[in-house]
Amino acid sequence: MLEHLALALLMALAALVCVVLVPPLRRALLTRGLFATYRKVLPQMSDTERDALQAGTVWWEGELFRGNPDWGKLLAYPKPVLTADEQAFLDLQVVEACRLVDDWNVTHERHDLSPDAWRYIKEKGFLGMIIPRRYGGLEFSAYAHSQVVTRLSTRSSALAVSVMVPNSLGPAELLLHYGSEAQKDYYLPRLARGLEVPAFALTSPWAGSDAAAIPDCGIVCRGPWGGREVVGMRVTWDKRYITLAPVCTLLGLAFRLFDPERLLGGEVDVGITCALVPHDHPGVEIGRRHFPLNAMFMNGPTRGRDVFMPLDFIIGGPKMAGQGWRMLMECLAAGRSISLPSSNTGMAQLTVRAVGGYARVRSQFKTAVGRFEGVEEALTRMGAYTYLMDAARKMTAGAVDLGEKPSVVSAIAKYHVTERGRQVVNDGMDVIGGKGICLGPSNFLGRAYQQMPISITVEGANILTRSLIIFGQGALRCHPYLLREMQAAQNPDSGQGLKDFDHALWSHAAYTVRHGLRALALGLTGSHFVAVGAAVAPETRRYYQQLTRFSAAFSFLSDIALLVLGGSVKRREKLSARLGDILSEMYLMSAALKRFEDDGRPAADAPLLHWALWDSMYRAQQAFDGVIANFPNRFIGRFLHRAIFPWGHPYVVPSDDLGHQAARLLIEPSPTRDRLTAETYLPDSLDEPLGAIEAALVATLEAEPVEARIREAERQGRFAGDPVANVRDIARAAVAAGVIGAEEFALMERRNALRDAVVRVDDFPFDLGAAAGQGA
Ligand SMILES: Cc1cc2nc3c(=O)[nH]c(=O)nc-3n(C[C@H](O)[C@H](O)[C@H](O)COP(=O)(O)OP(=O)(O)OC[C@H]3O[C@@H](n4cnc5c(N)ncnc54)[C@H](O)[C@@H]3O)c2cc1C
Repeated sequence: MLEHLALALLMALAALVCVVLVPPLRRALLTRGLFATYRKVLPQMSDTERDALQAGTVWWEGELFRGNPDWGKLLAYPKPVLTADEQAFLDLQVVEACRLVDDWNVTHERHDLSPDAWRYIKEKGFLGMIIPRRYGGLEFSAYAHSQVVTRLSTRSSALAVSVMVPNSLGPAELLLHYGSEAQKDYYLPRLARGLEVPAFALTSPWAGSDAAAIPDCGIVCRGPWGGREVVGMRVTWDKRYITLAPVCTLLGLAFRLFDPERLLGGEVDVGITCALVPHDHPGVEIGRRHFPLNAMFMNGPTRGRDVFMPLDFIIGGPKMAGQGWRMLMECLAAGRSISLPSSNTGMAQLTVRAVGGYARVRSQFKTAVGRFEGVEEALTRMGAYTYLMDAARKMTAGAVDLGEKPSVVSAIAKYHVTERGRQVVNDGMDVIGGKGICLGPSNFLGRAYQQMPISITVEGANILTRSLIIFGQGALRCHPYLLREMQAAQNPDSGQGLKDFDHALWSHAAYTVRHGLRALALGLTGSHFVAVGAAVAPETRRYYQQLTRFSAAFSFLSDIALLVLGGSVKRREKLSARLGDILSEMYLMSAALKRFEDDGRPAADAPLLHWALWDSMYRAQQAFDGVIANFPNRFIGRFLHRAIFPWGHPYVVPSDDLGHQAARLLIEPSPTRDRLTAETYLPDSLDEPLGAIEAALVATLEAEPVEARIREAERQGRFAGDPVANVRDIARAAVAAGVIGAEEFALMERRNALRDAVVRVDDFPFDLGAAAGQGA
């Protein structure tokens, strides 16, 4: 009986294999039915969704997605470098711009950059870094642009954002790609020299994240322009949150264009259109400001009602009417790769530099606070995350310089660098206690803390980016077969569609099975036998192997998830977010490993690298678990768990010992600390908070051996009964008791004076300066 059953099963299997291996048979017997079902369940995609999903290029994330990354390829991407001109600009003009800005004056007293600072950044071309030289711009690489924004962000958010926004998605970028020659020749030289200040207005009160739903509209009609009647547009808009709008001279405006009389000869609903409107064009309302969390970059609403403008205002002229959304989606990746990743890395570098120093200078319980294990935990995260953020920022800017428009990678960088940045600043605030809480000229972190949510919200709010974009767009763009299956299903020629679908579907099936088997094999062997295929630092070889394992498991898991969830994956945001987390952690780990190689494998930096990688591996494992534990089908969930983690969970949190090594790097001067905070603007004045910390750190280290002797004498009871033997004045008791000499006393006094300057917080008159015109 059993023999008969086995024989029948074997024959059924053989028949199935025959069917699968003979395409005409396979199409007729298997694929046709699946094709019909797939066409029925395939979710409808709007044009704007399609434009968003298909925009940009696939880069390194494609390798990670497809299950078997080629590490040689990663390490062969050139290390981003600056030209001599770019380096000189960083050393001179950027430093001078930082010097011209006093953040307290900007955020509390003036509520704006000073006229000198504005003049300087306009004249020196800061607003035209992405504009080619032939138009008078600086034509910087994406990497140089990122370096500039990073450094400015260590000084003042108003300064950084005022520079960042004109170089991100907006008039200059759109003109460069889509502008008519006349528009480029007129506007680009003016933008490059700061004669025009641009803003770009997309967001409306009704449409924030869902920006394609903007109700702002233009109606094609005839109207007076230049003394005669022309075909133009009557545009009505109500925009908010627009950076630089209050001071802009050139407003980029997105609205939906309608042509009810078909004067343009096409559809009535022409689509989203981008125009450039001079600020003094009749009917344009700008000038009012929002007040975004005490950040003083210009930000405000703009409105207009039935404002007539010629079709020439459309970027690219009338032929580009209706192309606005595609234009925006195509250009989004470059700016998103640079602006927020750079500004948040800048804030993190400042935090690490200043808080690390503070933690050594500030002492409680007769110990530098940075030496307490609890504080060490925070310092470790700060250091390792800053290392990781900087690596991701550089690698992503490098991709843009390679000609990529890395849409998925830019979303990963935006989300994860800003989230890690928030953690670094929060940790920094905890370490410095009340010093961070009392605002004033000597507070170096309070403003960054206040303004962190801005980074989280802009350029694609983080929750949406994580839940909808990273995996959603990643799957469609990186998967070798998914898009081909969808395109085949939508082919109006159903015969050809079936053929293409058949090919994609069965290749897809083979791909899934292959990665399933690889994931299991790599899990069983702990990925020890993976050939890395590139010359890597020996101490990092295992990470490449682990990443290959993650990649194979991710490919398998995401395929099964897509198979089971189908079109509903779009609504299952929690699962989609966790799948995106795995892809993101793999990208961040790749960036950190590449940084280590690009930096020349500095052994002293290794604790930061190791901690960041263990943390990322652990996070990736948690994300796998989150998907598997919540898999809609329990049975498949259990099967996935066995296939991916056959021996249980191999990844643990980074060790305390490693954390200790990493934290120590932050609290004393070293080449590692300098590399980690390389872009931080370091003022040399002791009146500046960071200048004082730098000097106090050196003085603290010099005084530590003396202090150790004093403490030893104290333990021996040498100062018993001396009223000055207190936490502040003990050096006086020590010199009086002959424990230290005059020179050592001077060392202690200098340390104490600098420490005083560092730990001091500001106080104000009762009305906080309102009567003197300096209220917040
Ligand atoms: C300081 C500042 C500067 C800005 N500068 C500009 C500018 O220069 N030009 C411009 O056009 N705009 C600008 N913006 C607008 C910015 O891009 C939007 O704020 C952003 O797109 C989010 O829109 P919203 O604030 O209306 O939030 P909402 O869209 O109301 O979102 C609220 C929450 O819901 C989440 N969410 C929404 N949809 C989904 C979804 N499908 N799945 C999961 N979560 C979702 C979001 O992540 C967010 O957490 C700026 C905003 C600020 C605050």
